[in-house]
Amino acid sequence: MIKNHRMFDPSLTGSIGQMDCVYRFAIEKESVRGQCVRLGLAWQELREYADYPPSVSELLGQATCAVILLAATLKFEGELTLQLQGDGPLRLVVAQCTHDFKIRAVARFDRERIASQMRFNQLVGQGQIVVTIESGAIGSRYQGIVAIDESSLAASLDNYFNHSEQLPTRVVLAAAAGTAAGMLVQRMPDHGGNADLLSIEMNAFETADAALTRLTTDELLVRPINDLLQSVMLGYDLRLFELHTVRFECRCNKQRVSSMLRSLGQIEVDSIIAEQGAVTVTCEFCQRPWVFDAIDADSIFAEAKITAPDSIPDSGVARAS
Ligand SMILES: [Zn+2]
Repeated sequence: MIKNHRMFDPSLTGSIGQMDCVYRFAIEKESVRGQCVRLGLAWQELREYADYPPSVSELLGQATCAVILLAATLKFEGELTLQLQGDGPLRLVVAQCTHDFKIRAVARFDRERIASQMRFNQLVGQGQIVVTIESGAIGSRYQGIVAIDESSLAASLDNYFNHSEQLPTRVVLAAAAGTAAGMLVQRMPDHGGNADLLSIEMNAFETADAALTRLTTDELLVRPINDLLQSVMLGYDLRLFELHTVRFECRCNKQRVSSMLRSLGQIEVDSIIAEQGAVTVTCEFCQRPWVFDAIDADSIFAEAKITAPDSIPDSGVARAS
């Protein structure tokens, strides 16, 4: 039975299952916990800036849900980035989520090498997944890296959690044109060797793990969240509460683009301006053009002489045209 928790009044149960929302659930004193996310408009807005082949779009949606689930497991203030870097035709996926669940994502790929039906390993090849947490306020940076698992992005993330946090974790991800969704179930560290509790935790985790193995993409994408969780955690006393609304919001700004131009160097920037009158940097996430003329360029390089370059350049995010 699903119990409404904290923010939820029983009369509001009907609102559970709305789109563009991340939820948290917990079982048996929160020793097994999970998050689930389902995106509609936020996902549609995010992907409308590029013409992605279906297989690329699917993986981009999965990566977007993955970064949201990762963010939901953490307490941080700043930005979480998940990068999928492989040697396949889909060279790079960058998905980002802030602590308040503003998301953006982009993929780079060789269009002519993308076939209509490609398995995950054919699409991404071999490579790594890099998870970066940048805490803007205190300027700290954490990075975790795991090899891409050839079977799926979700399996790669299971490995990531097993290695980096040593918590048994199961992730499922799915994305279609209008919807993307994901769920993560995790067994928390036990609380001092209580054998009864440990066995309940193991059983609850194993129940969820087995149910998630059977779960179809359609169920994950469209089945009402209440139903879905009850089927995954069958027989367990589940608490569900809404964590946060998710929305697409690009955070490109003049400062980030200036930093990227600084890393390009004054000689290169001046030569583009001499040739074209201005340098235009188009944000890959939202296609917004940022135009710098000679006066703007002078000021960013003058600033560079008196301040250290930003520690977080928007590298791999913007391109000069
Ligand atoms: Zn942007």
